[in-house]
Amino acid sequence: MTDGLKHAYDLTFDCVQCGYCLPACPTYETMESETHSPRGRINLVKMVAEGKASVEDMEEPIEKCLGCMACTSVCPTNVQYGSILENAKEVLDESKQTGAVESFLFDDFIPSRRWMDRLGVATWLFQKSGADRIADRLPWKMPLHLEAFAGILPEMPSPAKRNERATRYMRKRPAVKKVGFFTGCIMDSVFFGSNESTIELLLRSGAEVVLPENQTCCGALHAHSGKKEKAIELAKQNIAAYEEEQFDYIVENAGGCGAQMIDYPSLFEEGTEWHERAVAFSSRVKDISEVLVEMDGLAFSKEVDQTVTYQPSCHMTYVQKVVEPPLELLRKVPGLQLEELERPGFCCGSAGVYNLVQHEDSMDVLDVKMEDVCRTGADQVVTSNPGCLLQMKLGIKREGMESEAVHLVDLLMEADPESRY
Ligand code: SF4
Ligand code: SF4
Repeated sequence: MTDGLKHAYDLTFDCVQCGYCLPACPTYETMESETHSPRGRINLVKMVAEGKASVEDMEEPIEKCLGCMACTSVCPTNVQYGSILENAKEVLDESKQTGAVESFLFDDFIPSRRWMDRLGVATWLFQKSGADRIADRLPWKMPLHLEAFAGILPEMPSPAKRNERATRYMRKRPAVKKVGFFTGCIMDSVFFGSNESTIELLLRSGAEVVLPENQTCCGALHAHSGKKEKAIELAKQNIAAYEEEQFDYIVENAGGCGAQMIDYPSLFEEGTEWHERAVAFSSRVKDISEVLVEMDGLAFSKEVDQTVTYQPSCHMTYVQKVVEPPLELLRKVPGLQLEELERPGFCCGSAGVYNLVQHEDSMDVLDVKMEDVCRTGADQVVTSNPGCLLQMKLGIKREGMESEAVHLVDLLMEADPESRY
């Protein structure tokens, strides 16, 4: 038995089989089977470790887990499901031959700022050519259901606009805080405009903002795909990049990235130098909404006459445990009517690349979420994570709604906040 499987096996004994987690699990609700519930998955990992089931037997149930962590919020014995899941994924990853395309994606493409810039530029060209408007009517299918996303991407900035962005933003007046901004991969390539809004909100709140040049991908996709070694390598690079200056906060605007970076200490053995450095790093990681609330430097002046609902990211809710700050900010926007979801903690089905690699199952989960969204009658669906944002845009398109999906920072910019400092 590998160390990872042994660790997961030990953790499975905390599960007392009570089943309280079942109603919280989106895949249990949509797939209606014990195998696709948290308890079923935990039992399967235990059976694999005991030799009563094969590694292949656990592949489908584990791959179809969203990793949303809703189950951990209701578990009375605090079962470390996230750790069980990641170790199970590592076992699955080791049992398979990694193909050249997968190696390129995880080792070279995702962690490279250059490739992410190229993705942004390629999408800009795609939009300029008008191909995005007809992609879902083409007679052939794009890989990974990408045609479904073609018409819903935000307008990309031109390459010249991308190149204009600075790495340091100073205020004319003295800064109240110094912030290291984590730009992310998808946020910076697809939602570049939201990153610009984030920088602007931080400046108006009274912060000096630095974008460390050596930052890289947070490693969430790697960790959630069983590629722990690469996740550790990326964590080390980020920790070192943000040690180059003394920051009060390391700010991100993507729930999934924030959750991964807060969890960096778990990648290293306690008592080691890297563990200590990871603890120092993660203690300063904050979601943009937390920092805006803490700094309290914005005075919203313009009315936004809209009804909105807020779709929280699962990792922000269950890992970062940041729930109230986005709602608090929305309540401060004059004219805005906030209609909360009945089940905000139910995953939207995005879950990293789940909506690409498990597309049909993801759409089943999305359909449940959209019932709740439609009920609110919202003009705008606000969220704080690129995956949720794309998924909400897709849900709105599938439902034929008139609404829009926006990142929280872009909605806050609509209210044209003035600086109090
Ligand atoms: S992480 Fe989410 S999908 Fe996976 S078992 Fe837990 S609740 Fe279900
Ligand atoms: S709630 Fe916790 S203890 Fe109960 S079945 Fe689910 S994982 Fe096991």
